[in-house]
Amino acid sequence: MLTFIYMIFRYDKLMMVLLVLVSSSGQAGAFDPETTPIFDAHIHYSMDVWDAIPAADAIRRLEAVGIKRAMVSSTSDEGTLRLFRSSPGLVLPVLRPYRKFGTTRSWMHDETVIPYLEKRLSKYRYVAIGEFHLQGEEADLPVVRAVVQLAKKYGLMLHVHSDADAIELIISQDPDAKIVWAHAGFEEGHVVSDLLDNHDKLWADLSFRREIFVNGRFLHGWRELLIRHSDRFMLAIDTYIPQRWLKLNEVMGWQRSLLKHLPVEVAKRIAWENGENVVTRHFKGIR
Ligand SMILES: [Zn+2]
Repeated sequence: MLTFIYMIFRYDKLMMVLLVLVSSSGQAGAFDPETTPIFDAHIHYSMDVWDAIPAADAIRRLEAVGIKRAMVSSTSDEGTLRLFRSSPGLVLPVLRPYRKFGTTRSWMHDETVIPYLEKRLSKYRYVAIGEFHLQGEEADLPVVRAVVQLAKKYGLMLHVHSDADAIELIISQDPDAKIVWAHAGFEEGHVVSDLLDNHDKLWADLSFRREIFVNGRFLHGWRELLIRHSDRFMLAIDTYIPQRWLKLNEVMGWQRSLLKHLPVEVAKRIAWENGENVVTRHFKGIR
C-alpha cells in the first residue's frame, strides 16, 4: 500500500514537471525566428516562370521556407489565379495593372488599364491592387487617380512601388487609402519614419532592403525605426524574375536573421501578425 501511495506521489510530481514544461514552451520565450511562420507581402508569379515552376511546385517552394501566407500578384494576372487555385489558404490575390511585360514605366498613360481592372475586380476577389510602379507626380495622372478610386470602391489596399512623394499624392487623393509601400520606397530611414508617423494606414514591405541589416548589424536608425513602428513592417521576398525563385532560401535566411536581432514581440509582428491583422483579416475571398 505504501509503495502504491509513493508511486502516485511520484507520478503527480512527474505530471507537474511535464505541465510546467508544456506551458512554458507555449509562452513568448519559445518564439523561434528560425521556424516561425512567415507572411510574405510581395510575391510575383509571372508568365516567365509558369513552365519552369508549375503552380503546385511554386507553392511547395514557398512552404518549404516557412511562408504560410503571401500577397501574390503577377504579369499577367493568370499566374496569381493559378497559385490561388493551387493553395487558396496560402495565397492572397493582388491585381496588377500589367497584362504583359515592359509596361511598368508606361501603364499610367494607358487608359485601357481601367476597364481591364474593373472587369477583373467584378469577376474575382483580391486583397489589393498592385504591385505597380510610379514616381512622384505620376501619381496624379488620371489613370492612377482612377486606380486609387477603384481601390476605395472595392475596399482594397494598394501595393505601390514608388518614392515618398507619390505616396503623399495618393493619400491626398484618398486620405483613407490603405497602402503597402513596396521596398519602403527604397527611401532612407528618416523619410520612411516621417511618412509612417504622418499616415496610420501605411505599411511597408522590406524586400530588397539588404543594406539595412548587414552581418548582424542594422544600418544607423533602422533597428529603432522597426521597433518604433513594429506594427507597420512586413517581410517580403519579391520574386520579380525567375532567378529569385532559386534564392528563396538565401533571402529567407537574411530575413530570419533580421528577426533574430529584434525584440521578440517586434519580430512576431513583422514576421506574421501585421500581415494577418492588416491584410488577411479583410480578404473576402473563399477561404
Ligand atoms: Zn515587385
